[in-house]
Amino acid sequence: MINKIPLAKPYVGEEEIQAVSEVIRSGWLSLGPKLTEFENEFAKFIGIKHAIAVNSGTSGLHLCIKALNIKPGDEVITSSFSFVASSNPVIFEGGKPVFVDIDERTYNIDPQKLERAITDKTKAIILVHIFGQPCNMEEIMRIAEKSGIPIIEDACEALGAAFNGKKVGTFGAASVFAFYPNKQITTGEGGIIVTNDDKIAAMCRSWRNQGRDDSGEWLNHVCIGYNYRLNEMSCAMGIEQLKKVEFILSKRREIAAKYTKRLERIDGIITPYVDSKAEFSCWVYYLQTEEDLDRNKILEYLNQNGVSSRAYWDPPIHLQPVYKNIFRYVEGELPITERVSKRGFIIPFFVDMNNEQIEKVCVTIKKAVRKQKR
Ligand SMILES: *Cc1c(COP(=O)(O)O)cnc(C)c1O
Repeated sequence: MINKIPLAKPYVGEEEIQAVSEVIRSGWLSLGPKLTEFENEFAKFIGIKHAIAVNSGTSGLHLCIKALNIKPGDEVITSSFSFVASSNPVIFEGGKPVFVDIDERTYNIDPQKLERAITDKTKAIILVHIFGQPCNMEEIMRIAEKSGIPIIEDACEALGAAFNGKKVGTFGAASVFAFYPNKQITTGEGGIIVTNDDKIAAMCRSWRNQGRDDSGEWLNHVCIGYNYRLNEMSCAMGIEQLKKVEFILSKRREIAAKYTKRLERIDGIITPYVDSKAEFSCWVYYLQTEEDLDRNKILEYLNQNGVSSRAYWDPPIHLQPVYKNIFRYVEGELPITERVSKRGFIIPFFVDMNNEQIEKVCVTIKKAVRKQKR
């Protein structure tokens, strides 16, 4: 099919090309001035004390799990309706992800069920702000304060989202954003940890750089670390992306609003939930189908008619083959997660989508639905 509208596309231009070229010409390709500048600018954007850039969101989450001292046998509560990278880092350290069912409107962890899942083995909670929809931070912070259990925010999909006017990433003991090419802003590959905690920041800085301390001694290793560094080309790209971030986020909001206006009228299609307390930062435009529609047939029709689309997250994490093998999870344990997983899908969504493309996507969805409704 020619001219199939893609699912995602990074918003990058001459500024990024220029900045990356300058870094390459400078010869300073890692641990240089761009890293510091990117971290400072990112911390300023979020409104937080520390930002530690790493080579992926997954690496960032791994270091947060280590910083909270998760050990074999410890339980970490999270949701299964997510990308596998949000719970894998628990397993890296020998911990056990405990999955809690989601709220069927926001697709985020259900605070009441979260509270009930807390045991004396619970050492942390990983909150995923799925698709850029903030979790209910009012309820969750109340539970966290009462129980004393620290929170890690997986904000990898939620750059720019806020709850009660407070940006996501600023609620947890530590939080992570990611910069893969389909995220709101990109550095090619990359991620960043943000925290107000000086100790967590210092540990993460050391671990990302082979366990060095900040004495500046290159071959002095004070702990077992990793190579989770983000190179200077990526940091230079990140700096340019941050200059455009407000524009990127407002464009994305605008396109999401256009989609919602057209799609909410289609019988059988459910558009993203609007929570009056939340500022949604749409990462992927996600739709649910009602029971009387066959989601897979809609996907097939869209993909055959020039509109990319994909089921998300199907299967959810606890039903991924490796999770079933290790933890013996079976279908039926998380009914809402499992039902939502079978009915949801994403459609093309990127900053420079034009009205014609938006219209084509909406018309094609309408046709796909109509085919089943007669
Ligand atoms: C993108 C993403 C990550 C991080 O992914 P990387 O590819 O490692 O940067 C983590 N969690 C969620 C929910 C994500 O969507």
